[in-house]
Amino acid sequence: MYNSSELQAKLKVLSDSYAAQLPEKLRQLELAWNALPQSGWNEDPFSKFFRMVHGFTGAGRTFGFSALSESARKLEDHLKLIGEAKALQQEQRAQIEHLLDGLKQAASHRDGMFAAKSEWSPVTPIRHEPFVSRHVFVVEDDQALANELKVQLSYFDYEVDVFNTLNDFRTAMQHNPNVVILMDINFSEDDRGGLHVMDELQQGRDVLIPVIFLSSHNELDVRLDAVRVGGLAYLQKPANIGALVDTLDSITSSQSPAAFRVLIVDDAVHLTNFYTTVLEQAGMSVQVVNNPLEVMKPLLEFAPDLILMDIYMPECNGMELAAVIRQLDTFVGIPIVFLSAESNLDKQLVALGLGGDDFLTKPIEAQHLVAAVTNRIKRSLVLRSFMVRDSLTGLLNHTSIKDQLSHEMARARRQGKLLSFAMIDIDHFKAVNDTYGHPVGDRVIKSIARLLKQRLRENDLVGRYGGEEFAVILVDTDAQSAMKILDTIRHDFSLLRHVTDEQEFYTTFSCGVADISNFSDASKLTGAADKALYKAKHAGRNRVMLADDSEN
Ligand code: GH3
Ligand code: MG
Ligand code: MG
Repeated sequence: MYNSSELQAKLKVLSDSYAAQLPEKLRQLELAWNALPQSGWNEDPFSKFFRMVHGFTGAGRTFGFSALSESARKLEDHLKLIGEAKALQQEQRAQIEHLLDGLKQAASHRDGMFAAKSEWSPVTPIRHEPFVSRHVFVVEDDQALANELKVQLSYFDYEVDVFNTLNDFRTAMQHNPNVVILMDINFSEDDRGGLHVMDELQQGRDVLIPVIFLSSHNELDVRLDAVRVGGLAYLQKPANIGALVDTLDSITSSQSPAAFRVLIVDDAVHLTNFYTTVLEQAGMSVQVVNNPLEVMKPLLEFAPDLILMDIYMPECNGMELAAVIRQLDTFVGIPIVFLSAESNLDKQLVALGLGGDDFLTKPIEAQHLVAAVTNRIKRSLVLRSFMVRDSLTGLLNHTSIKDQLSHEMARARRQGKLLSFAMIDIDHFKAVNDTYGHPVGDRVIKSIARLLKQRLRENDLVGRYGGEEFAVILVDTDAQSAMKILDTIRHDFSLLRHVTDEQEFYTTFSCGVADISNFSDASKLTGAADKALYKAKHAGRNRVMLADDSEN
């Protein structure tokens, strides 16, 4: 990652290097032009000449030579007509000579590189939201409710401080703590006190303090004021802990997903340097292929999230390459974005038809490139997650957790490590549905999913195995340790209060655990965990039980 002045310096180096090679490039262009036959038509040398002109169109402006880009574009348009007619008349030759002269002259005009602000302004990293800690200030004058919130949130690993008066809260805020605020609105001293205090605290800040309002008010003007003083969410009393934790999780999520991986396929080395610099500065990880015929290895090994592909390349064109990549099962879903100086809409449409997802026209501004790539990747990751995740809980679905189990077992064996597998089933869940209704049952399912995700380590895998059944893969963990971890979760879950409009209730789960030291293949392991779960149910539920090794 570079800071902005480093980026400027790096871009300046790229531009200088382009400038230094320009005279040689122009000489090559001249040679290519002279290589065309004096009469008749010869496709190959013409294409070569065309590609070179096209190269100037795309690269010129990017490196601070916009006049060059411009004249190259004019020449290119002219050549396209000739290419289509497959004939080069004498008067057209004269015209080309003329345009070539213009191009050479234009090459001596270098833009005040850093004056062309938009193209060279450093890219704002998009993916680095400020870190928010899992520390919550609950500001609530109803002491019983405040303490209840504190207890409930602590089950989800939030550290909570309670303030019953606005003044205590004001004092605590003087130290500028890194917290999320959960704020009531109506206080005995001021019936809009929660809004007023936040208004006061947010004054003059660049980055607002994250605040969630929790109130029995439901008037539009109150909700509007809440938004105006930086309210990220507005929850209605009585508090729905599930919704509250979802909201807090989305605000405090500090897991920065692994950097997006972008593979660039373009024969123009200068341009790939430029794109690499820009995308890396925005936090992405980039690999470059300058020879399109060498794309397979990085495709398989680097496993990019997106391919940025030039259209005109000497060995094969980008559209053909996209079609080939699309025919590989593994890459059906990967976004391919064409990046080319091709401004002809018909050709762009052909490119999209062959499997491209988007078309960006060179030269492209840094900011635009980053935005286009980021949006494409985000959308495709969402689409991919629909295929592997359960929609109610966001956990891995049945098929994916089974796939992951085989995968992780193979890995554990390779690395000589242990792995535990657990099956979890909610106790008497039918009664929950029957008593409180299906939607409330769904909320219970979500709360257990959330608890499992939060309490297990990032590398552990959690899936929804069936309706109210869950499967957990604990990597590098023996069954005894897995039991301990799951038993803590079981205990906390049993204390988790579920609220409906009028009533509240508690529920429990049972769990069976096995590890690979006794059960060597996936079906034996799942079978053993399932039997252990059955034992837990029969022993009275609300407990975690270990598989018998005799069942091997
Ligand atoms: P046990 O302690 O023996 O597991 O009893 P149980 O009532 O939990 O077990 P049973 O398998 O008889 O009932 C499971 C119930 O879970 C039946 C089904 O209607 C309900 N269920 C399954 N999927 C969902 C779901 O997605 N949402 C809701 N609300 N209920 C579901
Ligand atoms: Mg059950
Ligand atoms: Mg069941």
